[in-house]
Amino acid sequence: MLNLGTDSELAIKKDQQYLWHNITPYSEANPPMIATSASGSWVTDINGDKFLDGMSGLWCVNVGYGRKELAEAAYNQLLTLPYFPLTQSHLPAIALAEKLNEWLGDDYVIFFSNSGSEANEAAFKMARQYQQQIGQHYRHKFIARYRGYHGSTLGSLSATGQAQRKFKYEPLAGGFLHVAPPDSYRRPAGMTVEEFNLQCAQTIEDTIVWEGVETMAAVIMEPVITGGGVIVPHQIYLDRVQEICTKHGVLLIIDEVICGFGRSGRNFGHHNYNVKPDIVTMAKGLTSAYLPLSATAVRKDIYEAFKDNSDDYGHFRHVNTFGGNPAACALALRNLEILEQENLVERADILGERIYSEFSELLDHKLVGDIRRFGLVIGIELVEDKVSKKPADLSIVKGIIAECKSKGLIIGKNGDTVAGFNNVLTFAPPLSSTDEDVQFIVDTFKSVLNGSWAQ
Ligand code: PMP
Repeated sequence: MLNLGTDSELAIKKDQQYLWHNITPYSEANPPMIATSASGSWVTDINGDKFLDGMSGLWCVNVGYGRKELAEAAYNQLLTLPYFPLTQSHLPAIALAEKLNEWLGDDYVIFFSNSGSEANEAAFKMARQYQQQIGQHYRHKFIARYRGYHGSTLGSLSATGQAQRKFKYEPLAGGFLHVAPPDSYRRPAGMTVEEFNLQCAQTIEDTIVWEGVETMAAVIMEPVITGGGVIVPHQIYLDRVQEICTKHGVLLIIDEVICGFGRSGRNFGHHNYNVKPDIVTMAKGLTSAYLPLSATAVRKDIYEAFKDNSDDYGHFRHVNTFGGNPAACALALRNLEILEQENLVERADILGERIYSEFSELLDHKLVGDIRRFGLVIGIELVEDKVSKKPADLSIVKGIIAECKSKGLIIGKNGDTVAGFNNVLTFAPPLSSTDEDVQFIVDTFKSVLNGSWAQ
């Protein structure tokens, strides 16, 4: 690796020869950015060019790049105890599980894995087994939302509600159903946001009843759909979802893989609402992506149902070799300390509000249909015209992203869906971004939109 040095042509040639990239189509004409170092919110590529990472990687580098303390925490732990399986135990996992309870503000038991997808897989298996363990033998189905994303493995992909990610891999896992998300921007004319949100929540209850209450295991949702287009529900939606789940004995799994660890301006996204999830899944910001680690937090009384060892089937028959690696846990603890010491949870909300209010004038721009915010997640929905709300062409969305990049700003867009909704630009910079970083995001984006893409 090191002998590639800074020869960018050679590195690209070898990249194209040996490396298979995540989700990105192969393109000789448009080679990938090869990052070589990073500090704060800025990433340097192999040519020495610097870019502000307005997406924190894949919504994950919450404390920013270049944190020596995190490297040291992992290094020290690797020297002391690099690995021990969590079929038994070790101190960093115990300490982190306790700390996560503090962050959650409730009584949970923690199961560690390595990725958001795996955290959700564990949640699905726990939900099904729990229902069996309490005598609800037919409860195996899950409800998720269209446009939601829950991961790339077969179960979590089944929960995902974005058809273009799925159709080439079918048949997926059985038992996953979908309902429409509360996309208030596209609500029917004449309906209030509250009425529309209640109607969307009602589709969950209707599905439960039509499918047969006794077959339903759990509902899974992000507090706010992030990668699927920054769809922020009204408070009333989650209140009603909680009510429906409780009424019908259906568990509520909240996927905090993006919204967790301060991204929402609170410790967890669901803390912005009144819900008390049965299971919470988390990854990304848990280690700020410095090392792989994810967690499935389960309400204490659900865990209690797995304690019956009277036969060999009472316990959770699920193993994850790398999950809860000691170095990853030690690093995560240090990461949470940084978030606390630097008040980064509060800062996320302050920065999000600043960007949002700076962007609000863009609502007059012909392409901007809607601007939405959840903590330090901002989505700008681009449309062809504001009356029909027809999504802007993908070439426009990609053109704007490319021009921002040419000016040193990395931004994102929502995932593809079969309905053609890939028209939301996304912003999720590190929570540690400086005031100057934020100004750079605002100025660069406005100059792009008001320049080549103006009226
Ligand atoms: N859930 C959500 C909400 C996500 O955004 C993601 C990843 N973007 C996942 C789950 C899956 O996480 P991973 O890529 O770590 O498997």
